Amino acid sequence: MWLSFNLLLANPQILRRSPISKRVNRLLKIFTHHSRHSNEKTYIVIDTLRNPFEALYFRERYSAFYLMALNSNDETRNDRLQQQYDLSSSQIELINKKESNKIKNQYSSFVSQNIQKCYDIADIHVSNPQIGADDFTFITWQIAKFVALIMHPGIIMPSSEERCMQIAHTAKLNSGCLSRQVGASITDEFFSLKGIGWNTPPEGQAPCSLRNVYDLISHKDDQAFSKFENNNKEFRDLAKDLYDNDKIKNCRTYLKGRNVSYCFKDLKNQIDEEKNQVHTRALHAEENAFLQIVKYGGQGIKGGKLFTTSSPCELCAKKAYQLGIREVYYLDPYPGISEDHIFESGINRPKLTMFSGAIGRAYHQLYEPIMAPKDELKMMLDIKTKDHCKELELENWTLREKIAELEDKIKNIDISNP
Ligand SMILES: [Zn+2]
Ligand SMILES: [Zn+2]
Repeated sequence: MWLSFNLLLANPQILRRSPISKRVNRLLKIFTHHSRHSNEKTYIVIDTLRNPFEALYFRERYSAFYLMALNSNDETRNDRLQQQYDLSSSQIELINKKESNKIKNQYSSFVSQNIQKCYDIADIHVSNPQIGADDFTFITWQIAKFVALIMHPGIIMPSSEERCMQIAHTAKLNSGCLSRQVGASITDEFFSLKGIGWNTPPEGQAPCSLRNVYDLISHKDDQAFSKFENNNKEFRDLAKDLYDNDKIKNCRTYLKGRNVSYCFKDLKNQIDEEKNQVHTRALHAEENAFLQIVKYGGQGIKGGKLFTTSSPCELCAKKAYQLGIREVYYLDPYPGISEDHIFESGINRPKLTMFSGAIGRAYHQLYEPIMAPKDELKMMLDIKTKDHCKELELENWTLREKIAELEDKIKNIDISNP
């Protein structure tokens, strides 16, 4: 290892020329090379990746790469930044802006921080709540669990919380929303599944990602669009203005068959000069999960649990409260004021729990045993099982030998002289 580092120090341009993920990758190669020769195992922690494409870069290269999200809620985070790092609220505001990819330029999606998106694609969620200033027992316990699973997949089974969040995570991929896919699942108090949902328009209306703006402009697919979209002049003019100009027409050759969909909410808000969430076409994942139970018939969910891959907005939080949900598990640590304003009010306050566990492909990678535990133990302990066939064969041979012996004896008996 020492030699390799010296090589790098002698040729620093190897590192300087490439982006950070490539530089880290070079270091990884040096470490794995070293471990291959020394016969030691190497575990590497990269602290920290803040752009989702950096994470993808490693995910595409290393099957044992796990993106770990360290979550704490807004309040805890602000307290820590203020007290431990002595930051002012305007400094925190600036950090928030940086972390949320709000400072835009042409390539900002590829190079700047986007913590929210990193949370979205994280493999393992570690909850880091405020317990005490230096009480790290909960976080240590979680990390020990996941490291054990990384070293030995399937050594324990997923928790009920992980199973139900994984179901929500599976549901989210059905969403045709252009900006964010969200999934939800609902269980009774014993984690028995009662409903699932994802953000999508009402059944019978085309999801946003499947609609084409040029079909809208040319009236080719009127069924896919609303009466408003098909007739409102102001709206149609804006759509034409944005999507049917010469500049865009030149770009269309680059699309290579991609569907050009558009977000109705964005266009409508542009006309109204507002930021009104009312104009989303989709129902929220949580709403859809609640409504699935009403729609197809099912059991009441009073006292039950809600799992969401995002965090409930104010509207969904109200519905959960009204339905008597006792516990809400969520992934996204930026819940706005629905916690303080909706959940933390009245006498039936549901418990809000930040999810801790493996999700998505990591759920399968960490919880699927590489080998059946029975076979693994048998091999390691060198346990011999009874082989009945062999036993019978052996018995057969000894009996045959005895028969031959007896036959010899019979031949040698002198019957002429009794
Ligand atoms: Zn949408
Ligand atoms: Zn909602």
